[in-house]
Amino acid sequence: MIPNRDDLVEALTYLCEVGVDLTVMPAGPFDWHLTLTPQEAIDYMTDPDGVVARHLGISIGELNTWRETNGTYLCHAITHQGKRCRRVIPGTYFLIYDPAHNPAKWAAFERLGHCCTQHGGRRNGGAS
Ligand SMILES: [Zn+2]
Repeated sequence: MIPNRDDLVEALTYLCEVGVDLTVMPAGPFDWHLTLTPQEAIDYMTDPDGVVARHLGISIGELNTWRETNGTYLCHAITHQGKRCRRVIPGTYFLIYDPAHNPAKWAAFERLGHCCTQHGGRRNGGAS
């Protein structure tokens, strides 16, 4: 018999109270982990990306882009072809290899809209 959700939450809450961590290692370009609440741990079984995104305060789209770009920060300028430039932002090496690097930190910087050197390093892009 599968225990119901309330019983699972109660059991996991008890484990957490005695010092057990509910830690997961979501997919990503780096080894990283998250410690979940009992409720999140249960939801993680059926919706891991949704739990990770909600836990970090980012969208699933941001989480996926972080994975697709291997955590790099790409230029926000729009090229003549109408596509995003996608060159790496110079000077972000230290951010990428920060041991605490995770999609939330990536998204916070990404939202600033920086551009590559060719596109002036300006914020919020611009036409090339
Ligand atoms: Zn650019």
